Amino acid sequence: MNRKSKLDFQQKLLKWHFQENKRVLPWKGETQVYKIWLSEIILQQTRTEQGWKYYERFLERFPSVHDLAAASLDEVYKLWEGLGYYNRCRNLHATAQIIVTQYSGVFPADYESLLRLKGIGPYTAAAIASFAFQLPYAVVDGNVYRVLSRYFGIGTPIDTTSGKHQFQTLAQECLSVLEPAAYNQAIMDFGATVCKPDAPLCATCPLQKKCLAFKEKSVTHYPAKSKKVQQKDRWFTFYFLSWKGRYAVRKREQKDVWRSLYEFPSIEWNSEKEWERSQKFKTSTKLSDWLQGVKINNMLSPKVQKLSHQTIRAFAVTATVSNPAHQLKTEWEWKTKAELKAFPFPRILQDFMDIQFTKKG
Ligand code: SF4
Repeated sequence: MNRKSKLDFQQKLLKWHFQENKRVLPWKGETQVYKIWLSEIILQQTRTEQGWKYYERFLERFPSVHDLAAASLDEVYKLWEGLGYYNRCRNLHATAQIIVTQYSGVFPADYESLLRLKGIGPYTAAAIASFAFQLPYAVVDGNVYRVLSRYFGIGTPIDTTSGKHQFQTLAQECLSVLEPAAYNQAIMDFGATVCKPDAPLCATCPLQKKCLAFKEKSVTHYPAKSKKVQQKDRWFTFYFLSWKGRYAVRKREQKDVWRSLYEFPSIEWNSEKEWERSQKFKTSTKLSDWLQGVKINNMLSPKVQKLSHQTIRAFAVTATVSNPAHQLKTEWEWKTKAELKAFPFPRILQDFMDIQFTKKG
């Protein structure tokens, strides 16, 4: 592909953007760097429709980077609850504090400094640099990979070092240096609304004439990937253990899913068979030492939560403790229902809590 074909692609894309792009997003055309940064962090690995309400919720609670920096991490987690990928939330809070303490509340206006902030990689730095400061840095996200690989017919896997480098270079070469913000917005919107992952609108696409994937009738082959994401299955039973009207709870500190969120006592099973069999036990003592003397009250229907690399299946059991065993006394805090409301929980636990605490009072 030569310079002319890249320029042609850029011009057609910009024309589509200015004349036909009707996509409405609350952060579109935004120039305030705090809002741009917030939207970009929320949208990493999140569907736009889902991210939208979180963006509005965050802006309402934290109208400025100072407000966000001054909040407790638990409060920020609570607001983030349900979005997943919680290290984004940790980084969001850490970066807000860095901006306030080291940059006097003003985001740096150059790509390299942005890249040094926590949770800001090449994509987010390019988005902020172009949208807030009109700097010529091309964004490369899933939409960009898809549009470029299809239009230029590039079969290099996007999950390899050489593939990433090739697409980053090509994206930069296609970028309009005069209108980097409009170009970046255009290619992302085009990927989201026209050149979609499934059922792209090729029949009416303004780029169709020179699109190689369309010409070769191989649109669905792009973008290429070298390996499939390995999914891991996990099985849990969670216990709402109550003692004198309070529930055992603690913060997850281990390097695992849901780090820094709160959890109830649980048992993780080695297999689905084991997990299902465990539900038939009449007495809890057969399950684990720390359940000595626990009276099982009822069991809530199982739920599933799909994470990026794991599928979690869980039961929740409500039970009463007459005298907490030593381990439960020392490792767990006992909190009332009202106190639990302020803690951030994984979505699957929040769902169980909604059933157990809200509907049943
Ligand atoms: S013709 Fe189809 S595959 Fe090619 S750019 Fe347009 S929508 Fe994408």
